[in-house]
Amino acid sequence: MERSFEQYFRQNRLPHLWCPGCGNGIATKAIVQAIESKGLERDKTVIVSGIGCSSRASGYMDFDTLHTAHGRAIPFATGIKLANPELNVIVITGDGDCTAIGGNHFIHGCRRNVDLTVVLFNNNIYGMTGGQASPMTPTGKKATTAPYGAVDPVFDACRLAEAAGATYVARSTAYHVQHLTSMIADGLDNKGFSFIEAMVQCPTAYGRKNKMSDPVQLMMWMRDNAVMKAAWDKLPEDKKQGDRFPIGLLYQEAGVDYATAYDHVIDLAGGAAK
Ligand code: SF4
Repeated sequence: MERSFEQYFRQNRLPHLWCPGCGNGIATKAIVQAIESKGLERDKTVIVSGIGCSSRASGYMDFDTLHTAHGRAIPFATGIKLANPELNVIVITGDGDCTAIGGNHFIHGCRRNVDLTVVLFNNNIYGMTGGQASPMTPTGKKATTAPYGAVDPVFDACRLAEAAGATYVARSTAYHVQHLTSMIADGLDNKGFSFIEAMVQCPTAYGRKNKMSDPVQLMMWMRDNAVMKAAWDKLPEDKKQGDRFPIGLLYQEAGVDYATAYDHVIDLAGGAAK
């Protein structure tokens, strides 16, 4: 019997190329289940992705999809949204794609409050391109470019999104899949830049380098270190150290989205032309 989510996948493109135990499939399924829960029309929903393991997801999803250049998914998505604001535009990106190569596009997408739902699959490393450290590789963790451990402080992409102007910011993990689905679904409701960090296990590139090559180990790490936002807020500061991190809705505010703001420019230009 066909399960309801299977209709959203291009069966002729499967099986996928992700490694056994990879968390990208869990996050991709969470996106389609969020789409289904919101009743979004397939013909009005566009999936845009960049480059990397995460960004291969668009090829498997049976919507209008665009697999773009490295780091450039947000500008492509911005163009689609401005050309047709009726469309639901969802961006799938990775930690390297979004916060390194695409870092500037990310902060300006947030600043403009473009009505996009951006889901960052955070596997803490560049998987597809060879296991190099990304800006979201935790300090001290190993990568091919950091054989003795990453020196750089890690980016908190959620705090970056909030500071840059995103109007919905949430985090969840592949372990908390129903929670992740609901965070994405709530992001789809927000008319503005919605950013959801989906932490996903990468047993091959990240796990093997950091003595967690079993995907179950990585998922247990997520289970043991993720703290729901309400509980996180009550923790004393010394309990927020180490590997612990908050999940849930981290930030939300009302704001005028970019297409609406641009309508004003169109009105002004129309008035000037008369
Ligand atoms: Fe998944 Fe990591 Fe393999 Fe990429 S390298 S497909 S992120 S397990």
